[in-house]
Amino acid sequence: MPCMDSILLVAAVTTALMGLQASGQTPAGDPASTASAAELRVFDPTLIDKAVDPCDNFYRFSCNGWFKRNPLPPDQAVYGRFTELFEINRLHLRQILEEAAVPAPERSANMQKIGDDYASCMDTAIVDKLGLAPLQPELDRIAAMKTRAELPALLAHLHSIGVNAFFGMGSNQDFADANSVIAFYGAGGLGLPERDYYTRTDAKSVEQRQQYVAHVKAMFALAGEPETQAARDAETVMRIETRLAKASLTMTEQRDPQNLNHPTDVAAFQKELTHFAVSDYAAALHAPVAGKMNDTEPKFFEEFNALVADTPVEAIKTYLRWHLLHAYAGPSLPQSFDHENWNFYAHILNGAEKQQERWKRCTSRVDLELGEALGQAYVGRYFPPAEKHHALEMTLAIEQTMAKDIDALDWMSAATKVKAKEKLQAVMNKIGYPDKWRDYSSVTIVRGDALGNAERVHQFNEARDLAKIGKPVDKGEWQMTPPTVNAYYDPQMNNVNFPAGYFQPPFYNDNEDDAANYGDMGSTVGHELTHGFDDEGRQYDKDGNLRNWWTKDDEQQFNDRADCMVKQYDAIEAVPGVHLNGKLTLGENLADLGGLWLAWLAWLDKAEAAHLDMSATMEGYTPAQRFWIAYAQQWCTQTRPEQLRTQAQSNPHAPDEYRTNTVLQDLPDFAKSFSCKKTAPMVNPKPCRVW
Ligand SMILES: [Zn+2]
Repeated sequence: MPCMDSILLVAAVTTALMGLQASGQTPAGDPASTASAAELRVFDPTLIDKAVDPCDNFYRFSCNGWFKRNPLPPDQAVYGRFTELFEINRLHLRQILEEAAVPAPERSANMQKIGDDYASCMDTAIVDKLGLAPLQPELDRIAAMKTRAELPALLAHLHSIGVNAFFGMGSNQDFADANSVIAFYGAGGLGLPERDYYTRTDAKSVEQRQQYVAHVKAMFALAGEPETQAARDAETVMRIETRLAKASLTMTEQRDPQNLNHPTDVAAFQKELTHFAVSDYAAALHAPVAGKMNDTEPKFFEEFNALVADTPVEAIKTYLRWHLLHAYAGPSLPQSFDHENWNFYAHILNGAEKQQERWKRCTSRVDLELGEALGQAYVGRYFPPAEKHHALEMTLAIEQTMAKDIDALDWMSAATKVKAKEKLQAVMNKIGYPDKWRDYSSVTIVRGDALGNAERVHQFNEARDLAKIGKPVDKGEWQMTPPTVNAYYDPQMNNVNFPAGYFQPPFYNDNEDDAANYGDMGSTVGHELTHGFDDEGRQYDKDGNLRNWWTKDDEQQFNDRADCMVKQYDAIEAVPGVHLNGKLTLGENLADLGGLWLAWLAWLDKAEAAHLDMSATMEGYTPAQRFWIAYAQQWCTQTRPEQLRTQAQSNPHAPDEYRTNTVLQDLPDFAKSFSCKKTAPMVNPKPCRVW
């Protein structure tokens, strides 16, 4: 459970995994299959709507043309330029997988694994014919539980195969000592996206809870339970999950690492859990049964302990059965389960109208399960070494700019500036893909066994994760696969990570001018760097330890400035009745504003060094205008109202319209580039500014 701050939540991937249904069609005639990233541009004048005044609504001005050209596809809840590239990458991955799926004797071990994993996932005839049979041994295991004393070993097994029941346990760097890997026990066990879904009192949330109970009931009925029992069992699940949810931290509370830092040891943790044998649980997982650990949410585990004590064994079994069905209700189970799962998570919660084609889901699944085997093949074909070099150059340029920017801050003391720059200099830049690829040789992938493959991959990943406890930290490890269209900063590693899949048009293009590339990819590099200094990241030192390096006064100065942004975003009503959460989105908003500012300064330096004529227009726009338009055009996104609501309530990133307009309203240099009047909507008369 590593911490990471990404440029966006991978909505496309989560949607893909949330039960997209087999259509059985091969997309041979799919016009999208001929698409390539090379046809997309970073700065694209044809997307601009000249009928909109850029000082009035810059997002509409920059994106209206894209909106017209890209109606929301029925199988997507959100479709933007990130999805546009994600879909192109997915076609490339599919090509690799279809080749690997041909059972030729010369296939390498990795090609056999990714090819047969894909082929098994695609084989709906076998999956449907097998029905629930592959899951029966697990269902029997749950049915065989007689007493509470058997719960720890059973739960350990379920966790090892990817079932999210009750809580989570994994390896993580110690907050106090980033060089040491210990066990983290954390809250979990919910079927709805996050805890607030169980506690909100508005009419829509009440309705969603009813729809969720209906979904759980439908899943039990599909698994063979009579109607009345299925209905009763669904209520039981809801009762248990509501108790767990109420004892869990909110997403906003979780953003402060101090709230999650409760170092203890297994013996002391065991004393708290009077009704759950932690050592039985850990032993069954081959995890340490003694030694230092972190109880990230003590209040949650107190409630878990009480729940185990006062809940009948039959009810606990019902809850476990639900989470088992839920964990595997993707392409591993027959279409009836698949459809029901899609209907609740993708359609009801997020508004998608049609299930994605099977090949899309299976491709995303292999990327998730065996991502570095697939990624190695991907990088070989689609990430030339020159691109890695250019990406590194840009990252270094923006890091240099940040050092100058820190020096220029008028609110920070010299002592804290020294520490800030030390931290900046210690940032490790990771670009493209890992130096050392993950070794999958111990994973067995059997053609025709989709569910078994998923189980074995989960077991492999779980064992691999737990084996890190007590070993030196591997700083070269990645939390995203190489084809991913995303990026992240890891505060405990103090590194920035830019996967190969992202360094392509429409985000980066060697053939376009610096203004375009710095406005777009440069702002992302700045975004990730700024995460090291946002309200969360600034609490970690250069080595990734949770240790305060700020003077009291500097901390106050930072908080005052950050508070300006909390209020600014709190005031935004994203859907009728739902405001953005300024505290939840603070880290991302700080990174957006700081990142764009850094990219702008870095580009100005570069333009000056090249004696660029700042008044000369190209395709009708000055270099500065091209910079801002390229920034805005990365965020052109169509979103369903259901998805927008979910995002406004639960996503630490503000919706894309505000990631464009609200950020630019705080930058007077933007207004200058378009000669906006002081009273224009795109000008904040009292701009917020931290970094
Ligand atoms: Zn971010």
